[in-house]
Amino acid sequence: MIDDARRRFLRTLAAAGLAPLSACRLSRHAAGKARVVVVGGGFGGATFAKTLRFLDPDLRIALIEPKNAYMTCPGSNWLFAGQSTPTALQVDYQALSQRYNIDVVQDRAKYIDSSRRRLHLAGGTDLAYDRLLLAPGIAFDWEAIAGYDVNAAARFPHAWQAGPQTQLLLRQMQAMPDGGVLLIAAPPDPYRCPPGPYERASMMAHWLKRHKPRSKILILDPKRSFSKQALFEAGWRRHYGYGTAHSLIEWHSLADNPIVRLDAAGKTVVTEFGDRFSGHVLNIIPPQTAGRLAVESGLTDASGWCPVLPATSQSPLDPFIHVIGDAAQLAPIPKSAFAANSAAKTCALAVTALLNDREPGEAGWLNICYSLVAPDHGISIAGVYRLDSSGRIAAVPGAGGVSDSHLPDAAEREALYAKNAYRSLIADSFG
Ligand SMILES: Cc1cc2nc3c(=O)[nH]c(=O)nc-3n(C[C@H](O)[C@H](O)[C@H](O)COP(=O)(O)OP(=O)(O)OC[C@H]3O[C@@H](n4cnc5c(N)ncnc54)[C@H](O)[C@@H]3O)c2cc1C
Repeated sequence: MIDDARRRFLRTLAAAGLAPLSACRLSRHAAGKARVVVVGGGFGGATFAKTLRFLDPDLRIALIEPKNAYMTCPGSNWLFAGQSTPTALQVDYQALSQRYNIDVVQDRAKYIDSSRRRLHLAGGTDLAYDRLLLAPGIAFDWEAIAGYDVNAAARFPHAWQAGPQTQLLLRQMQAMPDGGVLLIAAPPDPYRCPPGPYERASMMAHWLKRHKPRSKILILDPKRSFSKQALFEAGWRRHYGYGTAHSLIEWHSLADNPIVRLDAAGKTVVTEFGDRFSGHVLNIIPPQTAGRLAVESGLTDASGWCPVLPATSQSPLDPFIHVIGDAAQLAPIPKSAFAANSAAKTCALAVTALLNDREPGEAGWLNICYSLVAPDHGISIAGVYRLDSSGRIAAVPGAGGVSDSHLPDAAEREALYAKNAYRSLIADSFG
């Protein structure tokens, strides 16, 4: 079964221009029983492990992930509109371990001993590696907003890592009085899922419109503009009275006067120049960095994210460590699950080439981010990326762009595509 699936998968990669077929015809034995250890079972790590198995059946692949089930952030905003359930957003690692022969280790990576190429786990074991792939996602900068730390997040959820935080925010929204204010403090760039805060506001507005129509969602933004802004605002005008006195959503740019403090007792955020914004529910999404292991291992730079050599995702600080997903700096590619899945495939091809002493092939990346403005109103942004002549990642001119809202039924069709794209991405990454 795996051989058939492998052949189909390699043909798909080749057809997508991500892998010339010649590059996929590996000398399996050159890599022998090399060991690749993957940290993080999110979209980046899971897709990488699965792709590597397709590319080389002989490799020993271990995937380290503390959770036995993973709740996807994609689709988690849909909970607020009653369009999904926590159970529907759960995936597990059964397919990776049983169908793809990946050694899934339920543990947390604690420390990288790069001189001996060993990864130490919190449970006490340590694993030797020939290549280490880090896809630990994000961590939060708890210093950025005074008073907003990990304890405060238990009362004022960020819900930016799907799970209990998302469900807490959902309960708080549902319990809010009609006429209440729900405040979303959006994060500064770069952060996980650029359209995410605005899709969240849309999904919440859809629910509030039916159940608490006198309420208001206030988005406080440290940016001057945001992803798919024109499409979101057109959708908000159509569905939620945006721009009128009765609008369910208000967006305020605080680019010159950002939030610096939380007054927890007063359920109020305070800006640099002392402006105060209060809400019944506060969804504070703090600034982000690469996941803690990457930071503590010294693989990040002053930006808080991991620099990488784009063609192979190798850390410039250690050529045996590759970083992908949200943790890596791959700008202008946004930090999304779709992009993590795409980068994982490109990186798996590079790692198999390096293990076989071959030059990695030409690197390429794709991203498509769908958002729902209402359950039957979708919008999207897409990008195709290659290396330019100076070796930097660049968007391919003329490829991608935003969805065309002028086409008949565009909103309904994009909503359908959004739901189908979610299912395909889950199957491709974990299934
Ligand atoms: C509300 C919201 C909506 C979103 N919607 C979309 C969308 O519609 N489409 C889209 O493409 N993207 C979306 N995203 C973005 C997407 O979730 C992320 O870009 C994606 O999850 C990044 O994948 P990753 O593998 O880098 O990190 P993650 O998916 O976060 O996975 C990281 C994994 O690493 C594990 N880990 C961390 N540290 C360690 C350690 N020390 N040892 C072992 N394991 C560790 C974690 O437990 C976690 O499972 C959304 C995000 C949010 C917040």
